Parts: sequence; C-alpha cells; structure tokens
Amino acid sequence: MAVFYCGLCRRSAFTGRRHLYSAGHRRRLREALAQLQEATAAARAMAAVADVAEAVRRYDPAEHDGRVWCPCCGRGVRRDGRSGELALLQAELLRHLAGPEHRRETARFWRENRVEAALREQCLVPAEEYECFTQALERALAEQQRREEERILQVPSATSPHRQRPGPRRPRLTALSHPADGRRHPGGRAPAARHGAGRAAASNRARTLCR
Ligand SMILES: [Zn+2]
Ligand SMILES: [Zn+2]
Repeated sequence: MAVFYCGLCRRSAFTGRRHLYSAGHRRRLREALAQLQEATAAARAMAAVADVAEAVRRYDPAEHDGRVWCPCCGRGVRRDGRSGELALLQAELLRHLAGPEHRRETARFWRENRVEAALREQCLVPAEEYECFTQALERALAEQQRREEERILQVPSATSPHRQRPGPRRPRLTALSHPADGRRHPGGRAPAARHGAGRAAASNRARTLCR
C-alpha cells in the first residue's frame, strides 16, 4: 500500500488513504473545521457591520500580523489587511475565503474527507459579499484620508492665528492610497469618492445596493 501524506495531520500514513477514516484523523478534521467555521463566521460578521469604518484601526504588528490556518488550502492565511499605517480587520481572511483557490480547495477537501456538504457553506464567503465589503472599505478609507488632510491643513492656522490663509498645502498622505495588495486604484481614491459632494449619501446608496 502506497504511503499517504496527510496535510491535515502533517504526517505520512503507512495505511494509505485508509488513514482518512482513522479516529485520529477524524478528530483533527472536526477540530480544524470547527476552527475554520468560527474564523469564517467572525470574518463575515465584520463584513456585515453597519459602519465599515469599525474595520479600520491603527496598524500594530503585535495585534494585526496573526494568521488563521486553512486546512483546505493547507496554509496559514493572514487575517487582517494593511493599508499604510492602517490595519483592515479581517480583510485578508475574507479575501481568501471568497477567492477561487479556497473555493476549489474546499471542494477537493470535502470530497477527500467526505465531509457533510452543508458544512461547506459555513467555510466560504460569497464573492458579492466580499466585493461589497471592499467597496465600503475603500469609501471609508477615502473619507478618513479626507478628514486627515483637513486636519493637517488646519494645523498652520492654529499655530499662527494672525495668518489670513492656511500655509502651503502639504503633500498628500499617500499611505491610504495604496491598499496592501496594490491592485486597486493605484495612487487614487475609490471611484465613489471622486465626486466630491454627497459622499455620505453615495455611500448609503451603495450600501443599500450591497445589502
Ligand atoms: Zn490525517
Ligand atoms: Zn483556504
């Protein structure tokens, strides 16, 4: 019988694929799936918060560099995303759980381990749900950048009250313009934020469409 390597138990099994039915493997399978379900539920709860600005925090490596083990893909996945000095809670995990690699690997994993089909939905994130989350997140980041620019512009007039006009405009904060993966809107804002007026209204409209 061919030696079988089990990615879940991380060892070779001399009983071949019969290992998949062993008590030890089934126990580890239950534990790993319970953890993945829990992580998926927490990530989806963050995607569903009413105000997505709650997902944006000051980046702190001790707090935001953690990984979640994905037993289906057989690797650790970053939980939080990062944009410059900001951490985006659950953003990387949501991206993984909504992506094609994870969808494909869960299908294989479920087949190999003969897991109950209904459980699979609890370890996936619908692509539309992720898309709505990232759109809302981009709007929240654009809004935060606008407030930060306003704050910086107010500093010169606060320190020299007799000046009629604020001092020369300082360089734009670029940190917020480049999401960690560098794919979206290089050097720019989210499309929804380009039209200056009524940002909040636009954000509410889009949220209605998304939810
Ligand atoms: Zn195993
Ligand atoms: Zn995965």
